[in-house]
Formats: sequence, C-alpha cells, structure tokens
Amino acid sequence: MNIFTPSQIQTNITTVRARIKAAAVTANRDPRDIKLVAVSKFHPASAVQAALQTGQVIFGENRIQEAKEKFSDLFPLNPAIQLHIIGPIQKNKIVDAVKIATIIETIDREALFIPLVKAMEKTGKSPKLFIQINTGEEPQKAGVLPKDADAFIVKCCQKFGDLIQGVMGIPPINKDPIAHFQQLAYFAKKYDLPEISMGMSSDFETAIACGSTIVRVGSAIFGDRPIKA
Ligand SMILES: *Cc1c(COP(=O)(O)O)cnc(C)c1O
Repeated sequence: MNIFTPSQIQTNITTVRARIKAAAVTANRDPRDIKLVAVSKFHPASAVQAALQTGQVIFGENRIQEAKEKFSDLFPLNPAIQLHIIGPIQKNKIVDAVKIATIIETIDREALFIPLVKAMEKTGKSPKLFIQINTGEEPQKAGVLPKDADAFIVKCCQKFGDLIQGVMGIPPINKDPIAHFQQLAYFAKKYDLPEISMGMSSDFETAIACGSTIVRVGSAIFGDRPIKA
C-alpha cells in the first residue's frame, strides 16, 4: 500500500496539473478549459487539507456518507471547496448529496427525479447535474445505457433545465477507452452540454485528447486506496 505524505500529495498535484496542461497543448486546447477533480474517496481529511494548500478546491467523493463526514469539518475552513459526487446515488442519501454537492455527476434514472426535486426544495440548494452514461454497458456499473441515453437526456433537460450541465462516464477497465470517450463527447455535443467528465489516473491524457473538460484523478494524487472502488 502506498499512502502519500502531505508533501508527496502536493508534488503529485503539481505533476498532474503539468500533465493536464501538456495534454491540452498537444490537443490544441486551452488548458484552462480542463478542470481537475481530486478524488479523495477513502482518504482522510488530512489528505484533502494537503491538497487544499496547493490551491486545489475541487474534490470528488463517491460515497455520500463518507463525503459528509469528511467535508463537514473542511467546508468551514475553506468556503471555496467544490464537491463533486461521482458515485451511484441512492434515494435515501439524496438530501445529503444535494446539501454538500456543487455537482452531482451521476444522474442515471428517472426514479431520482422526484426525490431530487424534493431534496432541492427541502435544502434550498440546487447542485448542477451531470448524466452518467454506461458506455461499456457493464451490468455492475451505474449509468444510463447508450441506447436509452437520448430519451433520458431529453427528459432530464425538460425536468431540470440549465441544471443539466454535462455527461460523465467510466470506460471499462483494461479496454481502450477512446471509443467510450468519443461516445460521451458525442452526447455532450448533441445536446449542447458544456461539461464532459471523463478521464482518471490511468487515462486522463487520452480523455483530454477526446474533449474532456473535467478529469477525475484519485490514485495519481493521493496514492492507493485501502479498498478498490
Ligand atoms: C475512484 C474514481 C475515480 C478516480 O480513479 P483513479 O483511477 O484513482 O484516478 C474517478 N472517477 C470515479 C467515478 C471514481 O469512482
């Protein structure tokens, strides 16, 4: 297991930022059009604090309960923190998700609509929403299937309007991600959605070449996780 010290985390962030910039330049893109989400799941608040010291304010978590516990102490220290929820959403956690998230990246079924609207009314908050697409059609993965994506995106936009800001996906592991990235970019373009959340530690440069506007990087910043997610 490879758990990094605060100074290693800071070095890693600098390295990842430099790699993002280089990949953008190679792809003839403006590096400022690509945001880095530091995925802190399974890592402690102290790791997030180390990242904050480098000016990193966007973080990703995939479990609402963990995110709530970790970030309740961190939000007051740094009001600039933006939290992206990147894991599957359960209806019973939706109020907490809406409370803490700047963006919920994983909207993938109509059954979430009513609980989401209610949670927004209850909390007075309205996070931006991305639609997760299961481009690999993997049964163990969340996300709307590509064949259902058109109808679902249209319904989401009818229901939530401008809150729908992008698409998100996770290509199958150990497969060439390019076709998956291209498919995500296709849906974003078709529906004029500005954000495409794709690319992780092992493939973010490829994702940037395919048009990613948000890369979600965990282990390359914080080290290995105690449990593989
Ligand atoms: C864990 C996770 C990441 C980060 O993965 P790394 O390979 O550690 O960079 C990105 N996106 C999602 C949805 C995740 O669950």
